[in-house]
Formats: sequence, C-alpha cells, structure tokens
Amino acid sequence: MSPAEEAANILEQFGVVSTGDLASYSPIDGSEIGRVGTGDPALAGDRAADAFRRWRSVPAPRRGELVRLLGEELRGAKEPLARLVTLESGKIVQEGLGEVQEMIDICDFAVGLSRQLYGLTIASERPNHRMMEQWLPLGPVLVISAFNFPVAVWAWNAALALVCGNPVVWKPSEKTPLTAEAVLALVRRAFERFGDAPEGLVQLVQGGREVGEVLVDDPRVALVSATGSTAMGRAVGPRVAQRFGRVLLELGGNNAMIVAPSADLTLAERAILFAAVGTAGQRCTSLRRLIVHEDVYGQLVPRLKQLYSSVRVGDPRELDTLVGPLIDEDAYAAMERALGGGLERVDGVAGGFYVRPTLVEVEQQEGRVLTETFAPILYVMRYRKFEDALRLNNEVPQGLSSAIFTNDLREAEQFLAAAGSDCGIANVNIGPSGAEIGGAFGGEKETGGGRESGSDSWKAYMRRQTSTVNYGKDLPLAQGIRFDIAP
Ligand code: NAD
Repeated sequence: MSPAEEAANILEQFGVVSTGDLASYSPIDGSEIGRVGTGDPALAGDRAADAFRRWRSVPAPRRGELVRLLGEELRGAKEPLARLVTLESGKIVQEGLGEVQEMIDICDFAVGLSRQLYGLTIASERPNHRMMEQWLPLGPVLVISAFNFPVAVWAWNAALALVCGNPVVWKPSEKTPLTAEAVLALVRRAFERFGDAPEGLVQLVQGGREVGEVLVDDPRVALVSATGSTAMGRAVGPRVAQRFGRVLLELGGNNAMIVAPSADLTLAERAILFAAVGTAGQRCTSLRRLIVHEDVYGQLVPRLKQLYSSVRVGDPRELDTLVGPLIDEDAYAAMERALGGGLERVDGVAGGFYVRPTLVEVEQQEGRVLTETFAPILYVMRYRKFEDALRLNNEVPQGLSSAIFTNDLREAEQFLAAAGSDCGIANVNIGPSGAEIGGAFGGEKETGGGRESGSDSWKAYMRRQTSTVNYGKDLPLAQGIRFDIAP
C-alpha cells in the first residue's frame, strides 16, 4: 500500500479529516499524505489562560486521572499511532512503536507523580514559626516539538504539565502535523471519559515558526518548552527572556563515545550501530563522534565498516530495514555538504532520500566535526591517553549525551566525575541514545540546559512558593533584627 493510502486509513481510524492549507509529506516516497489547517495562536493563548483559571484548582490526583485515561487511550492505539509516526517521520516500525511506548511510560510516571508533588518543611530560626515550600501550578505551557520525535516529546511535556495543573498548547513540527492530529484525537477521547476537563486545556496549533513566534511572545504563556535545533533555541530563548518568561530548551547534540582498550568490543559494536545509524542518524542523541583507543582501533574500525556495509537501508515499513529515509531533500543536501560532495542516494522507495550511513576517519576534531549534521555520519578518531579522549569528548559546543565503553573502574568513574564528561547524559557500557523516561533528559552548553521527563524535572512546570507561618504571640524578626518603637 502507498504511504498516502495507508495514512488515509489510519487517519480515518482516529476520526481525523484531512483538510487545510498545511500539507504533510511522507519521507518514504515524498508523496503528500494528508493536510491540516493552521491554527490561530492568539486565540489559543486566550483559551489556555481561561483553562488555567479552572484547572489549577482541580486536585492534583484528579488531574492525574486525566493523564491515566490518556495513557489508556495510547495503549489502545499504540500500533496505528506508531505506524503513522513511521509514515510521517520515516523511522522504522520498531522505533515508531518505541516512541509511542515512551508516551505510555511517561503517562504512568505522571499519574504517580500527581500524588507526589510535595515540597519541604524547613526548620525556622524563629520560635513558634513553621517554614515550608510548596509547589503550585505555573500557567499555560507551550510545547514546540521537532520532526524526529513527533509525538513522544509532546507527551514528556504534556503529561507532566497537566498533572502540575497547567494547560498545554502544542506547536508541532510543520513536517509532522498528522501524528499530532491523531494524538489530539486520543486526548479528546480521554477528555470525554474524564468528564469535566476545561475547554482549551490541551490545544494544538499547527503551522511553522511564525505561528510558534506568536505564542513564544505571549505573556500568558508561563513556560516555553522548545525542542529543536540550536538555531531555533537561539531565536526562542532571548524572546522569552525579554518578557521574563520561563524557557526549557532541548536543542542539538554532538554526542561522543570513547572506546577504551579494556572495552567489550562486541557490546561496543552493537551499541555504536544502534546509536549511529538508528533513526538514520536523526536523533538528538545519535552517536556522531567515536573516540577509539589506538590499541583497539585496528580491530574495531574495520569491523564497523563491515557492519555498515551490511545494514539494510530502505522502506522503514519492512521489518528487516534498519535505516529508513532522511526526512527530506534539505537533510540530504546537508549530509552531502558535510561529506564534501559525492553522496549517492541508495535504492529505497522512489521519491524518498535514502542514504548509506557513512563512517569518516579524521585526524583532528575540527570544522564540520564540531557541528551537528542531522544525518548518519560518524566521525572516527583515535586517542592514546585517557585525558585526550576526555578532552575530545568535551571540546565541542554541544553537551547532550556521551558514553564510554571500558571495564576499567577508574576510567568509568573519572568519566562520570566533576572533571569528566560535561554532558547532561553520561553512560558507561551503553550507547548515548535511547534514554529511559525515568531520568531527567537534556544537555548543557548549546544543547540549551533544559531538563524534561523523569526525576524532578516536574519542578520546571511549577511555581515554587516559600511560606512562613507564625503561630506564636510575638513577632520576632529574622536575623535577630530589632525594630521597636522606643517606649
Ligand atoms: P527545527 O529547529 O527546524 O524545528 C523545531 C521546531 O521549532 C519546529 O516545530 C519549528 O516550527 C519550530 N521553530 C523553528 N524556529 C522557530 C522560531 N523562531 N520560533 C518558534 N518556533 C520555531 O528542528 P527539526 O529539524 O525539526 O529537528 C531537529 C533538531 O532538533 C536537531 O538539531 C535535534 O538535535 C534537535 N532535537 C533535540 C532534542 C533534545 O531533546 N535535545 C530532541 C529532538 C530533536
């Protein structure tokens, strides 16, 4: 079946009508697979502000019930939604399923969290006083998402934002509008079952950056959580700062793996393959730089070249395909530029941009190696001293994910220590990609510094309030200050 026919069938299952001025194209064959209407961002701001006034006073465990129902809807629709993710983003079936599973996982996490949004009680220095910290709803949250995780990134943000008491406005990538419509259909079903969720609690505003910018500048949007390129973050970050809004940036990565002499090379090979060629190199956490000790270089690199030549590139719907298409012609052109020309398209489905993952051996870490090319290019370099490997790991502008393969405890611990990897994610004996939702996700430097998903990331979606209560009959001042009118 053609991607267009298949998408039409799936959209029908979700009750989504394909109409409007924004077209969606499948990277599988470049064909148009559906249409959506662009939204009115100012109206979305109004409706979100109204919804906030009601939702913030709903008890958090009750808010969790809505997210629980959404998780159920996602479980029921996992296969068709994953299939649509494949059709619209080009990722292979297994990865599409994994993406929807991440949405389900974060819903489960958020439901538990809805009963755990607690703060501290703090010892007061004043007698008969109690000091405490509480976490209150923040306000409307704008989620800007990228094409490569068209639905999971929204869920990471939305599940937390909703239990924290905030409405959500979603501006998905203009390259993946259909998956967003399908998710909204599931949200509506969850709303119906929930009963009394306010209108405008979850909204979808389709369109490009111009639509995003209106919402970014809207003073009623309390938090802008933006996932995408560093260039996008450079534009969005200062705009939000200008109006003293809160911003959570999840931007580009340039992730490295160190392979030490003691590494289990069989494990390392598998990890490298998944991290470097999976999702056709189009993950923010994709492995882009491999730093190999000179003692194992001669063994590992030829083996990788062999594996690279046997990876099946093609239609992501076929089960033995490991590498699907690039998202579009621009991505192909960017890969060709990074390689200095001569990139050949490989046979996939006519109309799609299919490429063979490429391994490039370099002597120095400079020029194009320092930038993120969103394509399956792996730069390989050698090292002799561990300090040099660490330096190479850190000497790029981005700071998202990193990994080391070693069986030397000292090296592993040094990699994780204060003077070790400077990234938001640092792994030992697993690759840099494929994070679990339970941990906080995000990176440093040009990756933007934001954290979302698990651990205590929820705190970014809430307003912290420190309260001191005096239950005594005196008014002692802090720091022992005396401020009395003379008798
Ligand atoms: P992109 O920057 O082109 O677009 C991302 C989103 O930002 C889209 O929805 C787009 O419409 C919007 N946008 C762009 N400029 C804007 C502006 N000025 N104001 C408001 N909105 C704007 O990114 P992409 O090509 O869709 O995705 C790939 C990039 O995303 C890569 O750099 C990748 O590393 C990054 N990414 C990062 C993470 C992470 O968690 N760190 C996750 C996924 C993708």
